[in-house]
Amino acid sequence: MNPSLVGSDLCVPCGLCCDGSLFERANLRAGEQSFTAGLGLKVLNASSEKPGFHLPCPLFKGCCSIYEQPRPHICGAFKCKLLLACENNRFELSDGLEIIKKVRAMQAELSSLLPTSVDGISSRQEIKRQMQALAQASQEERRTHLSFLVLAAKYEMLLRKHFLLQFSKKNLPNNLPEMDG
Ligand code: SF4
Ligand code: SF4
Repeated sequence: MNPSLVGSDLCVPCGLCCDGSLFERANLRAGEQSFTAGLGLKVLNASSEKPGFHLPCPLFKGCCSIYEQPRPHICGAFKCKLLLACENNRFELSDGLEIIKKVRAMQAELSSLLPTSVDGISSRQEIKRQMQALAQASQEERRTHLSFLVLAAKYEMLLRKHFLLQFSKKNLPNNLPEMDG
């Protein structure tokens, strides 16, 4: 474990798991629904066994606006691959910050290339939906949006390489915090 790294060194300037870039919902633990709704977050499946809240989180304002206050458990517990790699000395903090910068730059370029523009940050899921729509479209349409398709494929690879944990559901430890796409 890297003793000099504080998770916030990487996470405060990042926020990709809060702003909807990576996930469209975060899972809650049982009993957190009222507290989470009280924070102004949109609780999903409140009475089911798998409650969650909708992302992008409205409390993300460049960084988490309640970082020092009580938050849903997952907010402090979730660790992406990049954070784990920095904690385990497989990456320097500066390398991690460079990767986040690269993701943000690709996001900005992708937003300008989206076949159907969206407000705010384009989530990974929205990019996938638009890629799938193009897969059903004419060859000419696909050719028109070739730059988008190429960049979207590279973006997905970057997210998988550095952020998304590739566990199969059956191998997930019971206590591992999850974010869902
Ligand atoms: S995506 Fe990773 S590095 Fe970024 S805020 Fe979330 S846990 Fe931290
Ligand atoms: S409460 Fe803060 S840490 Fe939790 S999802 Fe919202 S912005 Fe992120």
